Amino acid sequence: MSPGPLAILRETFGYPAFRGPQEEIVDHVVAGHDALVLMPTGGGKSLCFQIPSLLRRGTGVVVSPLIALMQDQVAALTLLGVRAAFLNSSQDAEMARHVERALLAGDLDVLYVAPERLTTPRCLDLLSKTRLALFAIDEAHCVSQWGHDFRPEYLQLSVLHERFPGVPRIALTATADPQTRTEIAARLALQDARVFVSSFDRPNIRYTIVDKTDSSRAQLLRFIREEHAGEAGIVYCLSRRKVDETAAWLEGQGINALAYHAGMEGGIRTANQARFQCEEGVVMVATIAFGMGIDKPDVRFVAHLDLPKSMEGYYQETGRAGRDGLPADAWMAYGLGDLVLQRRLIEQSEASEEFKRVSGAKLDALLGLCETAGCRRVRLLGYFGEDSRPCGNCDTCLEPPQTWDATEEARKALSAIYRTGQRFGAVHLIDVLRGKAGERISRWDHDKLGVFGIGADVDETSWRSVFRQLVALGYAHVDHEAHGALKLSADSRAVLKGERSVEMRRVVARSKPVAGVRASVAAALSGDEVGLFERLKAWRGAEARSQSVPAYVVLHDSTLAQIARDRPRDLDALAGIGGIGAKKLEKYGPALLELVGAA
Ligand code: ADP
Ligand code: ZN
Repeated sequence: MSPGPLAILRETFGYPAFRGPQEEIVDHVVAGHDALVLMPTGGGKSLCFQIPSLLRRGTGVVVSPLIALMQDQVAALTLLGVRAAFLNSSQDAEMARHVERALLAGDLDVLYVAPERLTTPRCLDLLSKTRLALFAIDEAHCVSQWGHDFRPEYLQLSVLHERFPGVPRIALTATADPQTRTEIAARLALQDARVFVSSFDRPNIRYTIVDKTDSSRAQLLRFIREEHAGEAGIVYCLSRRKVDETAAWLEGQGINALAYHAGMEGGIRTANQARFQCEEGVVMVATIAFGMGIDKPDVRFVAHLDLPKSMEGYYQETGRAGRDGLPADAWMAYGLGDLVLQRRLIEQSEASEEFKRVSGAKLDALLGLCETAGCRRVRLLGYFGEDSRPCGNCDTCLEPPQTWDATEEARKALSAIYRTGQRFGAVHLIDVLRGKAGERISRWDHDKLGVFGIGADVDETSWRSVFRQLVALGYAHVDHEAHGALKLSADSRAVLKGERSVEMRRVVARSKPVAGVRASVAAALSGDEVGLFERLKAWRGAEARSQSVPAYVVLHDSTLAQIARDRPRDLDALAGIGGIGAKKLEKYGPALLELVGAA
C-alpha cells in the first residue's frame, strides 16, 4: 500500500500533525476535486498542494507570480527529497530544456511555473504531453482587478480548465474579503469548487499601537533594541524619501538596516531583497512596494512609522510577521499627522467621488482600530466578518487603556479652533492653549485672545492626543485646501454648548509593547538553551552559505529552538523534532547531535 497523507507529512516534511483544515483539503484534492482555499499567511497553504502532488500520479503544476519565491520553494523541497523544479524567465534556455525533459520523462513531483510562461502555446503543448497530478494557483487574488496585486496574466489561467478538464485545480489566497473570493471563483471558473475558509486570526502576532511622540524614529529604535535586537523585521514608511532617511538613520544607530522602494535602482533593490531573505537579522525599511512574495518565515516584527490606508493594508502588511508561528510583533506609531496626511491623499486624488467615499470609510475603520479601548484583534477580525473574544495578546488587552472625561478639554480645544478663525493646525492651536508666546502668536495677536493659556495645565502630548481624537471622533475636521487647518464640524456645536460629553483614551508614554508573550524567540529559552540556540544558528548560517540558500531553508528557527530545549540524545529523538524529516535527519543529523553534545 502506498503511504497516505499523514505518512508523507511525517516522513517527508517532518511534522507530526496536520494543521486546521489542511487534512481535509489534501483529501479533497487527492480525490480529484477542485478547491478554493482561503487561509491566512503562515497558515500552511503550501502543503495543501505539495502533498497531493506527491500522492497523485503525475506532476503537480504550481502557478506562482513570484520568481524569487519559486526558487526558495524548489530549494526547500529538494532538501526534503522531493523532485521539484521551476520554469521562469530567470533561467537560460539550456536549463529550461533540462527541466522540460525531466517533466516529459515523468521525473518531477512538483513544477513551479510563472503565469506568463504557463499560458504560452509552447508550454500548454508541453503539459498536454505530460501526466498531470493537479494545478495549484497560488496567490489567486492576483486575478482580482481591484486588488493592488493584479496580474493580467492571471486572467488567462481559465485556459487550464478548458485544456485540461480532468485535472483538479486548487486556488489559494490569503486575501480575506468575500468580494475577492467571488471574483477568483468567477475568473478561474471555479464556481463548483469547494471553498475552504480558515480563521484569519494570527494568534502569534501581538498588536501594539503607540502614540507618536516628536521623534517616532527614536520610539522605533527603542522598540527594536529592547524587543528585537539582532532579529529580522520590516519597517513600513509612506514615502520613498522617508524610507531612505530612516534606513540611513537606523544604520547610523548600529542597526543592520536596508532600504527598499520602487524608486531605487533595480540592481540595488534586488540585492537588498536578497540580503533580507538570506541573511539573518536584517531590518528592511520599505514602502509597501516591498510586499507580496516575502515568504521569509522568521520576520519577527513589522513596524509602521506611517498609517496604512485601510484595515486590509494593515492586516496584509502586519501579516508578514511570524509566518513560522513563533511569537511576533506588529507595532505602529500613530499620530494626528498620519490622519491628516491620509485624508489629504484621498481628497486630493484624481479618483471618482465614489472611490473617495469608499477610501474614506476604509480609513475610518482603521482609525477606529487605532483609537479603540477594546481588543485590537476583535476589531481587526470583526472587520473581516469574524467574531472573536478579547485575545490577551494585544496592547489594549494586556494593559487596558484608561478613558477619561475629556469634555472640558474638548471644549477648550474647539474654542481655540473657533476663536483663531479655523485657519490653524494643531501645532499652533496647542501653543495658543498652552500660552506659549512666540513670533507667530504675536503676529496674529493670539496672545490677546481669551483662550490664550487656558490649557496650560495640560501637557503638549496630551493636547496632541486630544486634537487627534477630536478629528477621529468627528468633532473637528481637517481642511486640506487650507494646509491642514482644523475646522469645526456639524457635531462640534453640541460639545461647545456643553450638551455632549466626550470620552477619550488616555495617552500612555510607552515605547515598547506591554509584557505578555515576548516576541523574541531566544527570550523564550533559558540561559543554557540560548547558548546552544546561538551555536545552532551559527552552524545553520555556514550551512546555508555553502548551499547558497536562505538559512530558513536549511532549518527553521522553531526547529532550532526545539532542539535547544529538548537536547535530543540520538537520531530517533532528533526525528521527533518538528521540521526534521527523513532527508534532513540523514543530512544534518550527525552535525546536530554533535552540536548538542550527544555525539
Ligand atoms: P502560507 O503559504 O499559508 O503562508 P506556508 O505554507 O509557507 O504558509 O507555511 C507556513 C509555515 O508553517 C511554514 O514554515 C511551514 O513549514 C509550517 N507548517 C505548515 N503546515 C504545518 C504543519 N502541519 N505542522 C507544522 N508546521 C507547518
Ligand atoms: Zn486583544
